[in-house]
Amino acid sequence: MPYSIPDDEYLKEALHRVIKRNKGISSLKKLKKLVIKELKIKNPDYTVSSERLRKIAVTAPFIDVTIESRRNDSIKDLKGRCPVCDGLLKKTKNETIFGGTVTLGYKCMRCPYWTTLQRRIPTRYRFEYDKEGNSHEDRLQERNKDK
Ligand SMILES: [Zn+2]
Repeated sequence: MPYSIPDDEYLKEALHRVIKRNKGISSLKKLKKLVIKELKIKNPDYTVSSERLRKIAVTAPFIDVTIESRRNDSIKDLKGRCPVCDGLLKKTKNETIFGGTVTLGYKCMRCPYWTTLQRRIPTRYRFEYDKEGNSHEDRLQERNKDK
């Protein structure tokens, strides 16, 4: 089967249309199906891999992504890279009562992925339209305010 790869710009456009039209897409598989359908309107040979779509979707400003994950039993080295979008991970630290710091885990600088030292393996994604285009940082603060 012949196939072509759309450029990032067109992929984002298609993603934007899909996410705007559908309220809450509960898995990457569903999102992929909808996006490919949208891409094919322009070119019937267009397709996109799950990995590429995931990386674009988790960092798109118009999407609020929720990442569900399970704990991993075996400690695997993340090599400083996010397993969701390949972005850089930042250590999250807490101050101890003795004036030192302790590493609690890692959080991604680009997408909503975070993990404790016991690695969290992403299992499911949920995509919601965010018309305000907040950054993940803003959303995090917004959520913490509610608590
Ligand atoms: Zn990430």
